[in-house]
Amino acid sequence: MVDRLVNSEANARRIATVENCFGANGQPLAIPGRVLVGEGVVTKMCRKKPKTRQFYLFNDILVYGNIVMDKKKFNKQHIIPLEEVKLENLEDDGILKNGWLIRTPTKSFAVYAATATEKTEWMAHINKCVEELLKKTGKKPSLEHAAVWIPDAEASICMHCRKTQFTVLNRRHHCRKCGAVVCNPCSSKKFLLPAQSSKPLRVCLSCYDTLTKARANQGDSPVKPAEKSVNQDSSGEDDSEDEVEETGKADDPIKDMDNLSIDEKPTFYGDTTEPATEVNHPTSCDTSACNAGTDFSVCDAVSSNDATTCRADANE
Ligand SMILES: [Zn+2]
Ligand SMILES: [Zn+2]
Repeated sequence: MVDRLVNSEANARRIATVENCFGANGQPLAIPGRVLVGEGVVTKMCRKKPKTRQFYLFNDILVYGNIVMDKKKFNKQHIIPLEEVKLENLEDDGILKNGWLIRTPTKSFAVYAATATEKTEWMAHINKCVEELLKKTGKKPSLEHAAVWIPDAEASICMHCRKTQFTVLNRRHHCRKCGAVVCNPCSSKKFLLPAQSSKPLRVCLSCYDTLTKARANQGDSPVKPAEKSVNQDSSGEDDSEDEVEETGKADDPIKDMDNLSIDEKPTFYGDTTEPATEVNHPTSCDTSACNAGTDFSVCDAVSSNDATTCRADANE
């Protein structure tokens, strides 16, 4: 179903629109064979709190960014290769509903859709794209995935020593192996986690133990020079990407979750299993042979591979 969108003008136009929305903040996205499969607003669990993010699902990458102006301007573009993606279902937990994990070797995080239906749609479309991409490239799915970071607000004390109370001075750190929120002394060691980085990363003392033992069993040298202690004046290396810039007050995550307004349903293109009215059609049919006129509820903007069989025509 995605295949017939390849080379279609509608697809090219949608991708150009996405590029425009990111402007100079984004990468060029139009490459041969790439199809925009769907788009929509999803709530991403960030380090401090849940935040709305614009997501674009292509047949080979997942792109998301911060919403500067709804439907018009986005920044902080992130591009995730789909062949590295593995989804995991999340059970509803209080106000955190309709969620799932997006896991990759370098970064894993939780996202939440507005409704159970939207969650099902997103997961099904992403999984299908991953599956088809792996089939096409012959690659194997990634087995090792980065830990999902536990949000700061869930730990007022260190999850390792259970003593250190976090304050402005006693900053929170995240173990890159298990995602736990720990204090500086409890995460003073680094360990090489090749799937995530070429440099050794901060890990908690429990993980350091486990990792060191595992390596000893593999017969490697016990201590590599790179795995020295973390500098005491860790200068913000702990903060990752879009979680960094927010230096404002510690908002109440519960309150923010309630205030999120995701009234727009996600849109998936060329999906014949969806009612035609759910598809966001362009202002005119792409196909020169199309007789659908302005009745885009029947026109499906067919690909140029088969320009004479617009669905509107085929249905007559
Ligand atoms: Zn501690
Ligand atoms: Zn750990």
